Amino acid sequence: MSDLLAALPRLLPEAVRWVEAQEREILRDGVPLTERHREFAVAVGVGQPALVRVKIVMELPLPSGAELRNAAIQTGLIGSNTHGMTFGHGVLLRTEYATERLLSHELRHVHQYEAAGSIDAFLSTYLRQIVTVGYERAALEVDARAYERDS
Ligand SMILES: [Zn+2]
Repeated sequence: MSDLLAALPRLLPEAVRWVEAQEREILRDGVPLTERHREFAVAVGVGQPALVRVKIVMELPLPSGAELRNAAIQTGLIGSNTHGMTFGHGVLLRTEYATERLLSHELRHVHQYEAAGSIDAFLSTYLRQIVTVGYERAALEVDARAYERDS
């Protein structure tokens, strides 16, 4: 993974552009949170739950650039075990895994984006964690898992 750590400064701007484009699309096509799920959002620390949009998809998107796409696959960031992804205030959930537990996890990532202050700031911390300690042990993933809830 050390080669990925070295590549990160170069890959980050492309990753930011990709996440921003995904967010725009989800904010355009997604649905607002229900009242119940807005309560979930508030409970996990989301400051602006009214901005959140959720889209249920069959497959999660992959970056079109080969290097970024390979990095996402190599780190386990995007793969068959990935059931949802969060892009700023945009949340994608895969159809067969669209549970409230997963939604609460992704909403904690929305909080993390808000706390970081920008997509750029969030991703530079998040991706550094992923390439240094791996997806499972990344502090922002451990934090999101701690906020999973069903009710
Ligand atoms: Zn996560």
